[in-house]
Amino acid sequence: MSRRRIAVLGSTGSIGRQTLDVIARHPERFAVSGLAAGRNVELLAAQVTQFHPQVVSAGSEAAAQELAARLEPGDARVVHGTEGLHAVACASNADLVVAATDGAVAFEAVFAAVAAGIDVALANKELIVAAGDLLAAEAARSGARLLPVDSEHSAIFQCLQGAPPERVAAIVLTASGGPFWERSRAEMEDATVADALAHPTWRMGVKNTIDSATLMNKGLEVIEASRLFGIPGERIHVLVHRTSIAHGFVIFTDGNVLAQLAPPDMRLPIGYALAYPDRLADRPHDDPLAALGGERGSTATSLTFERADPERFPCLRLAYRALELGGTAPAIVSAANEIAVQAFVAGEVRFGDIPACIETVLEGVATSESSLDAVRRADRTARELARDFVRQRLAGPTRST
Ligand code: MG
Repeated sequence: MSRRRIAVLGSTGSIGRQTLDVIARHPERFAVSGLAAGRNVELLAAQVTQFHPQVVSAGSEAAAQELAARLEPGDARVVHGTEGLHAVACASNADLVVAATDGAVAFEAVFAAVAAGIDVALANKELIVAAGDLLAAEAARSGARLLPVDSEHSAIFQCLQGAPPERVAAIVLTASGGPFWERSRAEMEDATVADALAHPTWRMGVKNTIDSATLMNKGLEVIEASRLFGIPGERIHVLVHRTSIAHGFVIFTDGNVLAQLAPPDMRLPIGYALAYPDRLADRPHDDPLAALGGERGSTATSLTFERADPERFPCLRLAYRALELGGTAPAIVSAANEIAVQAFVAGEVRFGDIPACIETVLEGVATSESSLDAVRRADRTARELARDFVRQRLAGPTRST
């Protein structure tokens, strides 16, 4: 079997590092053709030395120079910036591009890879949320496969294998509930950054962890699921499941329900995407309860599910609203959320201001257009309006901290 060549955009981030971890355990199946990262030059250089990609991209010219200085001549072609991301995605001879950057930085590179018919494993939530419908259309045209990496979407994708799409009645995404599931909305208003970063089950980056405290993470995932699987918002449900063992269910028109369960470890959905349609063979679970996240040798485990309340977690309501509005509304929600979360982490706004900011921006700019240009413009405008909101909060008299 020839090795599948993988390019990783965002190789020093949480998903990027776990992707390389899976690859390192399967040198007979996978090779790294390209790596792209932002500013963490030290780690990127170590990854180049370990995995020998053809092309490697750093975030800026200065970072690329620093990287080149750390490498032996001939280690890899060093590039940078937007063009660098493009080169890693499209010019490293990759069979599969793992899109694991944060935010909008890799939009062009991922679109170019899909247009060129290269399969993409999608871990970049913002990209699917903002432009998932366009990406899906481009993939249908070019024949590129879009493989979900997000655990819930991998779950749905796995449950859908071999199923006729018209027999899917509804899908369910599970949510851990984040650190504030037990709190009232009033108690959440002034939650601190440290509180919000204390996630019960998943280890993730700062942005994702705050998003899971507001449940915007799940809101964005509802949009993501709608885009990836072509299912409208009213047929996508969210259930809070505190232990993150069951990741998603598909409810079929005949009443049968399929669920996917696995321990909360991102290397499992990553491995599924890398090996698809095959499966890796590195986790021989002789103990079924351990396979469900229990202690090895334990005698029982239990799974619980609760409905999520969109009034207590307004970010969830805003995500459904964006799906209903369509066009660029999902891009607007995602961009405004990014700015609001940054401002919260910087201590500029309160936790409760995050949904307030998104709602204000969404009311200000929602449009029904659907093109990559419209998405780009909506993204820019939403960021400006969100920054205006933050400035007003900073200047305002009602700030309590
Ligand atoms: Mg997820």
